[in-house]
Amino acid sequence: MLIELKDVIKRYGEGSLAVTALADIQLLIDHGEFVVVLGPSGSGKTTLLNVVGALDSASDGAVRVNSVDITAASRRELFGFRAHTVSFIFQSFNLFPGLTAAENVQFGVDASGSDADPADVLDSVGLGGKGDRFPHELSGGEQQRVAIARALATRNPILLCDEPTGELDFRTGVQILELLQEQARSGRAVLVVTHNREISRMADRVVELSSGRIVSDGPPRGGRAAVTDLNW
Ligand code: ADP
Ligand code: MG
Repeated sequence: MLIELKDVIKRYGEGSLAVTALADIQLLIDHGEFVVVLGPSGSGKTTLLNVVGALDSASDGAVRVNSVDITAASRRELFGFRAHTVSFIFQSFNLFPGLTAAENVQFGVDASGSDADPADVLDSVGLGGKGDRFPHELSGGEQQRVAIARALATRNPILLCDEPTGELDFRTGVQILELLQEQARSGRAVLVVTHNREISRMADRVVELSSGRIVSDGPPRGGRAAVTDLNW
């Protein structure tokens, strides 16, 4: 298994102010899986991604990712883990505004020490010929494609996407999800967080969170929908 969470608990704060953001999380995710994490605001989605990506530590339980025991790893090991195992994609794209699309992707190459060619990676996300554009010269959907290209350029096996379609119109959002789904087909594990149930219908597997607990884990209710059957 690429990702293994066992009995994971995450608490913030102490005493009467304590918040249990994750409770009793059991989750196994393998290479090639496209998983949508669905839940309302405050249900623990971001916390779950951050625990998997070692941006935050579990309060209790076992977190093992790509054979690294995150809960026992040293800070130095965690630096290597973040560089070579996980890549994050955010709602607000988080591109460097003063760098071109190709330079943003080059950043992913440099951060991970991969040998990817930014032009090739931009091609693969449908942005061939746009490498010289700055983020403000691209649409929201195109900027998110650059962010995905930067993540892919690392060649890291896990993509963690926090509301990646949150700032996009529905149609563009679905195109981005299809692009992410393709990455799972090519062997990566892809976790996509959303609060939009309609979007989750195109997933292979939906992990539903409520108040920090997994309340269901399986194919979308009513079966997997074709993109053309989604309503917007
Ligand atoms: P979601 O991404 O589903 O909106 P989060 O994972 O951000 O949910 O938050 C889950 C719960 O944990 C919420 O109640 C939130 O207020 C709380 N929480 C998240 N981060 C922190 C933090 N750094 N300090 C205190 N509470 C937090
Ligand atoms: Mg969140």
